[in-house]
Amino acid sequence: MNKQKLPHGIEWTRVQKCVDGTTITLPGYTWNPTGGCFHGCTWQMPDGSTTECYAKTVAERLATSSYDQGFEHHYWRPDALKQPLKLKDPAGIFVGSMADLFGHWVPAEQIQQVIDVMKQADWHTFQTLSKYPMRLPEFNPFPQNVWVGVSLPAGHMMKAEGAARALKAYLRHMEQVEASIRFMSIEPLWFDAASVFEEWLETHDRLPFEWVIIGAASNGRTIFQPKQEWVQSLLEIFDKQCIPVFFKGNLKWNPWREEFPSNLVGIPSQLATMKIA
Ligand code: SF4
Repeated sequence: MNKQKLPHGIEWTRVQKCVDGTTITLPGYTWNPTGGCFHGCTWQMPDGSTTECYAKTVAERLATSSYDQGFEHHYWRPDALKQPLKLKDPAGIFVGSMADLFGHWVPAEQIQQVIDVMKQADWHTFQTLSKYPMRLPEFNPFPQNVWVGVSLPAGHMMKAEGAARALKAYLRHMEQVEASIRFMSIEPLWFDAASVFEEWLETHDRLPFEWVIIGAASNGRTIFQPKQEWVQSLLEIFDKQCIPVFFKGNLKWNPWREEFPSNLVGIPSQLATMKIA
């Protein structure tokens, strides 16, 4: 497991919770009992360059050790399974920062073993993130301490219209997920996703998630900010829906927001949001 240290770590693993009226920040970790991914995500940047998955770049750096079969390979690491159980202090743990745990290539028994550990280590808050949400309902109901996330479709082989269609399908799958917190990672925000959420709300009362992360696009050290109107439209929708918003550090926006959902069981997210900004 890797502890996430600011300013370079994954900041949203440092979950904030309200305990007895006091806000506490949990230390953040990543945990990779599986590794590798076949999704092949790439994004076209506004300057015409193409950026690839950050995990793939990291894996290629580690090619001689942990990723000796390349990134497009499924690694199962049973030795890593018990790691969260050994960490005694409560933490926020992002599961699969170097993988898609719910990818179509991952055997169900392995996913179930990971879920069983998350259930056992119930003093931690686990966060999963997938670009294959059709598989999530297969594992319903998720343990109460697991936040189940879905990422915005990548640009790979898709233009914005195709990604919008994929996002609509993602929402239908998320609606089927039984988890205390479902969340959507809109990072990078590379097309006008707000229109998809607006369309969803024409026929539904609520969006099918309780927390959202918004971030900019980056290629190496170059950051590409999303259009202001895309962010503004999203914030208007999420505020109306009382969905807490967490900004990734690469986004430029004022006023700044780093909001978390409450992880309290049985309390509707709209009543239990905790505004921190
Ligand atoms: S799903 Fe995630 S890990 Fe897999 S290629 Fe896409 S960005 Fe990388």
